Amino acid sequence: MNYISTRNSRESIGAAQAITRGLAPDGGLYLPEHFVSITADELGQLRKMNYRERAALIMGKYLPEFSDTELQSVVNAAYGSNYDNADIAPVLYEGGDAAFLELFHGPTCAFKDMALQVLPHLLTLSLKKCGEERGVCILVATSGDTGKAALEGFADVPGTKILVFYPQDGVSDVQRMQMITQEGANVCVCAVKGNFDDAQNGVKAIFGDQALAKELDAHGWFLSSANSINWGRLLPQVVYYFSAYCDCVNKGFAVLGEKINFAVPTGNFGNILAGWIAKQMGLPVNKFICASNANNVLTDFINTGVYDRNRAFHTTISPSMDILISSNLERLLFMISRDDAEVSAYMHNLVEHGRYEVSAALHARIAEDFYAGFCDDVETKRELAAVWSESGYLMDTHTAVAHKVMREYRTATGDFSPCVIVSTASPYKFCESVLSALGEDAKVRGPALIGRLEALAGTNAPAPLGGLEAKPNRFTEWVQKDEMRDVVRSFLT
Ligand SMILES: *Cc1c(COP(=O)(O)O)cnc(C)c1O
Repeated sequence: MNYISTRNSRESIGAAQAITRGLAPDGGLYLPEHFVSITADELGQLRKMNYRERAALIMGKYLPEFSDTELQSVVNAAYGSNYDNADIAPVLYEGGDAAFLELFHGPTCAFKDMALQVLPHLLTLSLKKCGEERGVCILVATSGDTGKAALEGFADVPGTKILVFYPQDGVSDVQRMQMITQEGANVCVCAVKGNFDDAQNGVKAIFGDQALAKELDAHGWFLSSANSINWGRLLPQVVYYFSAYCDCVNKGFAVLGEKINFAVPTGNFGNILAGWIAKQMGLPVNKFICASNANNVLTDFINTGVYDRNRAFHTTISPSMDILISSNLERLLFMISRDDAEVSAYMHNLVEHGRYEVSAALHARIAEDFYAGFCDDVETKRELAAVWSESGYLMDTHTAVAHKVMREYRTATGDFSPCVIVSTASPYKFCESVLSALGEDAKVRGPALIGRLEALAGTNAPAPLGGLEAKPNRFTEWVQKDEMRDVVRSFLT
């Protein structure tokens, strides 16, 4: 099983090298040369397994250089007592024609844990296999969820350090508290004066700084990133689509072999793409419902074949989907077209003109597997409140977007087959918006918001969020944009 780039399919490398590199030298993204099928027999086996066993079986198909013992150690470290639910990614089904796949039971209460609890272990093993002797420092600019999930994933992993920059005006109260209280001997968190773009541009400049790289190299360190273009982040996400299907069958929500739908709140297109890969491996799925917020560039793309990022950027109450460039879409374009020159041309147009139009044939293939819709903040809040009052299930704002678009899909198509709504965050992570959706005009701020939502919902906040107030603030430093390099230097040299 070798890996090729979406922009150069003539050259192939092993899994460990693809994970070590993250991005291909030609700017493309790595993909396995072909997909492995899961047979009906294997699906039967998967039904009887726990999440860790399912993960080892499925990920192992794409990681031939990793021994069974290594895979065992990866899944045991990634999916254990760091999760507050023994099923890891439980499916909640209480009758009716929809179920929730809850991906927020990890240490940071959002779905990025599903991959970022795995990546550090895959990465350190990959580095060893590639003969790398230096330590790796993960450098992240975050607008919220990714930074915290990466911190939790890399905290105290031997041979690694992690440094996270977040914009001083640009993360929620809960998100900031989560980061500045981070534990671990190898972590550092620092605020940057400005917005997300300032932090992001600062990090990009550091990655491009050859002199700094040389200096760090002399001290035995090199920089790497943990963003969702790494195959090591995509692969663990394929697992929960198989796992969800098995659980749906086990709970009587679907009949073995029956095609179901998945509704996915989408930003960078990583989560939903992992589902599509599962379908290519034989998982019985009809449609993937791609749900966006007011940043509806993907809705337009799937409906018209034109990707156009030349539009206003909206700050919404589902901030993890506030994205105008969905990087992982490039992988879908390649996997369907199998044409690296065609994909390179699209990506070139995206950089040059902010826009590209795919061929009619490619668009038709995409439309077979995906339905797309979006909703704005007002509709998101209304949906959140409606589901709460109809069924007593409290969704977060991202999940509410998916629920709303699923309803729209059903009305538009009449397809009421079983649908799994991919639940990407705990409502306690977005207390202020959730309270406001439920008609509470929250006058309190910070940790007190969590208490308000607990009282209103009659549930307890997940332990990692509930305990935030009592934790010491370890990282209160902030810097100007042009001082970010100095932070890197003092952390690593
Ligand atoms: C990151 C994130 C998403 C979007 O997932 P993609 O893989 O980027 O499409 C949706 N919801 C939440 C809560 C997230 O953190």
